[in-house]
Amino acid sequence: MFKKILVANRGEIALRIQRACRELGIKAVMVYSEADRDAKYVKLADEAVCIGPAPSPLSYLNMPAIISAAEVTDAEAIHPGYGFLAENADFAERVEKSGFQFIGPTPESIRIMGDKVSAKQAMIRAGVPCVPGSEGELPDDPVQIRRIARGIGYPVIIKAAGGGGGRGMRVVHTEAALVNAVQMTKAEATAAFGNPAVYMEKFLQNPRHIEIQILADKFKNVVYLGERDCSMQRRHQKVIEEAPAPGIPRKLIERIGERCVTACKKIGYRGAGTFEFLYENGEFYFIEMNTRVQVEHPVTEWITGVDVVRTQIMVAAGEKLPFTQRQIQIRGHAIECRINAEDPYKFTPSPGRITKWHAPGGPGVRVDSHAYTNYYVPPNYDSMIGKIIVHGDTREQALARMRTALLETVIEGISTNVPLHSELMVDANFVAGGTNIHYLEEWLAQRK
Ligand code: ADP
Repeated sequence: MFKKILVANRGEIALRIQRACRELGIKAVMVYSEADRDAKYVKLADEAVCIGPAPSPLSYLNMPAIISAAEVTDAEAIHPGYGFLAENADFAERVEKSGFQFIGPTPESIRIMGDKVSAKQAMIRAGVPCVPGSEGELPDDPVQIRRIARGIGYPVIIKAAGGGGGRGMRVVHTEAALVNAVQMTKAEATAAFGNPAVYMEKFLQNPRHIEIQILADKFKNVVYLGERDCSMQRRHQKVIEEAPAPGIPRKLIERIGERCVTACKKIGYRGAGTFEFLYENGEFYFIEMNTRVQVEHPVTEWITGVDVVRTQIMVAAGEKLPFTQRQIQIRGHAIECRINAEDPYKFTPSPGRITKWHAPGGPGVRVDSHAYTNYYVPPNYDSMIGKIIVHGDTREQALARMRTALLETVIEGISTNVPLHSELMVDANFVAGGTNIHYLEEWLAQRK
């Protein structure tokens, strides 16, 4: 097992990884930008290294600074968390070339999955069902583009091959709007991801977002840890996640889970990963794979009893998966609310000093957050300041626990989306379960 790991991230996930290291008796080196000097996990760190000023290109995306930090502290491995460099194949390669273990899949796996066109092609080859669409990257010729769209049928969605974070997507309802939409998405993709390639998919009208968590070791042992329902989204960004997905027959989950496992074996995948699907009329359609730990991993941890971050570290160190598929049992129901520093209904960011912070507690309540009273939320990064996760024997119990947890939460000095979550936890349709990916935006539009 490793003696020392460098955590190349910030915020709640940095704290989550630090906690896993402590539990395993591993020293964790925390890196931080000048804006994160006062973060809890920096103050509590065994060792901490400042890697640059607040803007992330100069700090959390600064590969030489991060690798130097690992060198000067004698770390053996680097955990990238999520976001920043977590899905950057060049980073993974540089980490390994510098003699450190990258806690994640191989650079090749990251590269294939990081390009959504090559990811889809790999999945089709591995027998995973995909959203119908263009065979690969769209050509430049407008005549051909129109022909492809007609073949798929409107509405279609134009997506950037290198896209992520809900950006680089455009829905097209008519042929008249098509070519212009392709050009605009290409221009955006070039600016945002440095990759002009776009592809086309059928735009599914009322799907749910269902994803499968997998864990793999270096010996081709792969298990899936059930599913998560992440359909409560705004602007293609997840707001609430839960596991299991309400109302989907276990048989269907098992079938798609087994497909994911087979695909992982075929591509030699190792570490944690998530297959994201749209689910409509009883069918799953692959949209992308995330080659890292996800924000919503705790709901899976709670229903399976498996520690995803701990397992990531163990398999990176060359250990075998400590469980088999048969040993994975789903127990109860878990829900996660992402707590963002933002106006709950206008969504404008609300960074600044937290003058009072009181986290909820009690049976079945888990809070993953680096925030505390007097913590200053820097304006430079993502607005998520933590997550409240609850577990219950049933979905009803989990919902009741989340309502209580939100009621107990006190955050003063900044605005947060806690009031929005409280409203959603009593919304009749959400409570009934099975809302689709458009539900939250429609709900917000009606509320106005
Ligand atoms: P990103 O990498 O930016 O998260 P994804 O491909 O995972 O992009 O898509 C994010 C979200 O966009 C999905 O959860 C879904 O809400 C929506 N979406 C993507 N593709 C389609 C599609 N073909 N039809 C309908 N909605 C889609």
